[in-house]
Amino acid sequence: MAVEQKKIKHAVVKPGKLFIGGEWRDAVSGKTFETVNPATGDVITHVAEADAPDIDLAVQAARKAFEEGPWGRLTAHDRGRIVWRIGDLIEEHADELAELEVLDTGKPIREARYIDIPMAANCFRYYGGWTTKIEGETIPVAGPFFNYTVREPMGVVGQIIPWNFPLLMAAWKVAPALACGNTVVLKPAEQTPLSALRLGELCQEAGVPDGVVNIVPGFGPTAGAALVKHPEVNKIAFTGEVATGQEIMRNAAETLKPISLELGGKSPNIVFADADLDAAVKGAIMGIYFNQGECCAAGSRLFVQDNIHDEFMEKLVQRARTLRQGDPFDPETQIGALISEEHMNKVMGYIELGRREGAKLVAGGQRLGEKGYFVRPTVFDEVDNAMRIAQEEIFGPVVAVIPFKDVDDVVQKSNAVIYGLAAAVWTRDIKKAHTLARQLKAGTVWINTYNVLDTTSPFGGYKMSGFGRELGRYALDLYTQVKSVWVDLS
Ligand code: ADP
Repeated sequence: MAVEQKKIKHAVVKPGKLFIGGEWRDAVSGKTFETVNPATGDVITHVAEADAPDIDLAVQAARKAFEEGPWGRLTAHDRGRIVWRIGDLIEEHADELAELEVLDTGKPIREARYIDIPMAANCFRYYGGWTTKIEGETIPVAGPFFNYTVREPMGVVGQIIPWNFPLLMAAWKVAPALACGNTVVLKPAEQTPLSALRLGELCQEAGVPDGVVNIVPGFGPTAGAALVKHPEVNKIAFTGEVATGQEIMRNAAETLKPISLELGGKSPNIVFADADLDAAVKGAIMGIYFNQGECCAAGSRLFVQDNIHDEFMEKLVQRARTLRQGDPFDPETQIGALISEEHMNKVMGYIELGRREGAKLVAGGQRLGEKGYFVRPTVFDEVDNAMRIAQEEIFGPVVAVIPFKDVDDVVQKSNAVIYGLAAAVWTRDIKKAHTLARQLKAGTVWINTYNVLDTTSPFGGYKMSGFGRELGRYALDLYTQVKSVWVDLS
C-alpha cells in the first residue's frame, strides 16, 4: 500500500515557491511548510509559505498587471485564446497533473485522471469561449439620452480554495475570473499546493502576462486573512467551511468587498419505494463515497422509505463493504485516503459520536491499516435527523441512513438542516420528482442521479451553504460589475 515517490511516472516533484508577478520567489520570511502524502504520511516536499508581506507583493503585482499591463488591452478574442490554451495545456499534462493531485490528496488516480483533470481543462475552454460574449445592453431610458451598460472586470480578485479538488477548484475560480478580464491572487489550501503551482507554470506557458495570475500557498489565518483584508483586492471568492466563510465575511466588511462563498453541505439523498433500487444503491454509494466523502455536495443523509428499508440496506451494506480501498495510485482503487491525520481523527470522532448517539453501525467504522489516513466506508442505520451525525458536516466516508414515511415527512426532514447545497430524489414518479425538486431548499437537485456537474450549469448553495453561483454563465456575474453610461442627445 505504501506509495513511493519513485512511482511517479510523469510528475516531477520539487520544492514549491511562490508565483508572483511571473516570477518564482521564496517567501519574504524565508519560511516553508511541508506537504504530506495522505496515503503514507510521508513528506512529499517543502513549499514556500506566504504571509501578509507576500500577499501584499502578489496583490501589487496583480494591481499593476490590471492597471498597466497588456492584459487589459488585449481584445476579447485574444484573451479567450489564452484562457482556452490553459485548458489545452492541462489536457496535454493530464497524466502529470493527475499524479500530483493523487500524491497531495490521497484520492484514487482514476478519479483524478478521468474526472478532476479533464473537468479542469474543460472549465478553461468553456470560459475561453465566453470572453467574446460578455455583452452590455442598450436601455430605453426617458428623455433625450442614449443609455447603455458595459460589463467591466472587478479588478484584482482574491481566490481561496480547499484541498478536496485542488486543481478543479482552482479552475472554477481562475477561468471565469480571467475570462472577465480580472487579475488573480490564488491561495491554494495548505494541504494541497502542488497542482496549483503547476497551474501557474502552465498559465505562463499559455501566454498569461506576468502578474495576471499569482499563486501564493500559505495558511488560512495568515495568508488567507491578509488577502481578504487587503484594500487593493476588489473581490473575494471562497470555497471551504462555514466557520471560515463567516470569518471571511467579517474580515471583508472593513473594505466592503463583494464576496462569494461556496460552503459546506449535509445533502439529502432520498430513495422512494418506487425507485429503481439498484440504480439508487449505486447512486447512494457514489453520492457518499466519491472522493472519500470529502465533497461539499456529498449525499451524507440517506433517506430511505420505510417499506423498502431492509432490501435497500442489504444491497447498500454489501456494496459499501466491497469497495476497493487502498493505494491511490492503483487504477483499481475506488476509495483513497483522507487528507490528513487531523481530518481522519475528526472523522473517527464523528463515528464514535454516532455510536454514542445510538445510531446502528452496519458497515465500516474503523481505519484501514496503520499507515496513511484511510477510513473504511461507514454506514450508520437508524439515524434520527436530530442527531449530530445527521446535522453536522463530517466530510468523510460516513453516511447516515434515516427512515421516512412519505413525501411530507421527507421534505420536512430534508430541509431541517442549516445547509442547502444539494439534494437528490430517486423515484419513477415524474410528478413526485419535480414536486420535490421545487420543495427541497438546495442549489442543486438531482433526479435519479447524483454528483453530476458540468461547467455549463450553475453550482452553489442555499441557506448556510453560501451564496453566489459558480459555473455556467452565472459565474460571469461574480467577476464583472455593471457600468451605466449616459449620453446627451438633445
Ligand atoms: P478545511 O478545514 O476543510 O481545511 P477551511 O475552510 O479551513 O476548510 O479551508 C479552506 C481554505 O480556506 C484553505 O485555503 C484555508 O487555508 C483557507 N482559510 C482558512 N482560514 C481562513 C481565514 N481565516 N481567512 C481566509 N482563508 C482561510
